[in-house]
Amino acid sequence: MSLQFKRLAAIGYVAVLLAATGCSIDSPLPLTQPVSAAEAKKAPAMVKVRVFNKEGQLVGPVDSSKVTYSKEEWKKRLKPEQFEVLRSSGTERPFCGHLLDNKIKGVYTCAGCGLPLFSSDAKFHSGTGWPSFFQPVAEENVAKRVDRSHGAIRTEINCARCDGHLGHVFDDGPKPTGLRFCLNSASLEFTPSEKLSTLADPAAK
Ligand code: FE
Repeated sequence: MSLQFKRLAAIGYVAVLLAATGCSIDSPLPLTQPVSAAEAKKAPAMVKVRVFNKEGQLVGPVDSSKVTYSKEEWKKRLKPEQFEVLRSSGTERPFCGHLLDNKIKGVYTCAGCGLPLFSSDAKFHSGTGWPSFFQPVAEENVAKRVDRSHGAIRTEINCARCDGHLGHVFDDGPKPTGLRFCLNSASLEFTPSEKLSTLADPAAK
């Protein structure tokens, strides 16, 4: 196609637009475009979770975008031990995690995406060597799936927003749930109660 033909085609296109819209050319294209199947696929998946607002209150469930990165990007964002647990389903050695004996009041969040996962109010001494909780801070925030690795059938727990591996849940916990959520410290970060407002999530608005 010659340059001159392209120019003529462009002039013709503008002329058609002017005829259709008068002289008010706000946008040469309709403001709302039908979303193709391919474009819809690109839209981030959403998940309903509970998050903290700027007042430090847990609110929701609210819609929040799933957090997804490539393996290489996760490696850049996480410490090696966090990557090993969260993205490679690793397990830290018992009695080694930095949050095992943490008795401060506060909230444990996902080290991958910051989603609130567990409260100190549900933490108990299990004697297993891993941080243990009898319930999550919100059912929506912790996903469960069957884990058939290592010749056993266990229930794996994952962050509902970034799918990071957290640990496992067992049915030998204390009252009131009878559950024991067995966590890796490396999958968690801790925020004391007086700083919960720092966990304010954009999805809380
Ligand atoms: Fe997460």
